[in-house]
Amino acid sequence: MFTPENLRKSLELFNEKIQAKKDYLSELDTPIGDGDHGNNMARGMNAVMATDLSGDLPEIFKATAMALINKVGGASGPLYGTAMMEMMKASKESHDPETLLKAAIAGIEKRGNSQPGEKTMLDLWVPAVDNLNNGTLNSATLEILVEQTKNIKATKGRASYVGERSIGHIDPGAMSSAYFFESLIEAGVF
Ligand code: ADP
Ligand code: MG
Ligand code: MG
Repeated sequence: MFTPENLRKSLELFNEKIQAKKDYLSELDTPIGDGDHGNNMARGMNAVMATDLSGDLPEIFKATAMALINKVGGASGPLYGTAMMEMMKASKESHDPETLLKAAIAGIEKRGNSQPGEKTMLDLWVPAVDNLNNGTLNSATLEILVEQTKNIKATKGRASYVGERSIGHIDPGAMSSAYFFESLIEAGVF
């Protein structure tokens, strides 16, 4: 179950991972994008950490969403921001992680006009939530999901500009999303 405490802890852990892996995330974005994903996420999470996260669940999700939408220039800002905004809305009715994460996925799909199989963060979020439902979500399965994004040809986002040449590379947004799910696991949300 989500609680204000474990959500705050998750965001702190996510921030630590993003700051530690900033250069790696931007390196992943270099061959198939514009090399800024780590910098974008690091800037966004710095802004999240600088906001007041002392409220209830909807308030924490909303503050996170606003910081990401306002501070991240790239595609990932509005997409993560939309995910957090949808979790904010859903958290008024439910504290069940699967319910909230599914609302987030629907928001990403709508905002990104995207579906799993297009080499985006959805190729992490959608199977990760399936694994959560099966009881098989852990850092090893997350790593496999990240690796599997190598096999996909990008048809959305900047990576779609390189077409076939996107094959063989990890999607940077899937990697950062794996850090998000790891943070939820480590904070005890599931
Ligand atoms: P930008 O591409 O604007 O530089 P980032 O580098 O921060 O933004 O983020 C790129 C990541 O955003 C990609 O690796 C991918 O996971 C995700 N992404 C891009 N476009 C979409 C989309 N339409 N739907 C879902 N995710 C997307
Ligand atoms: Mg980029
Ligand atoms: Mg960019």
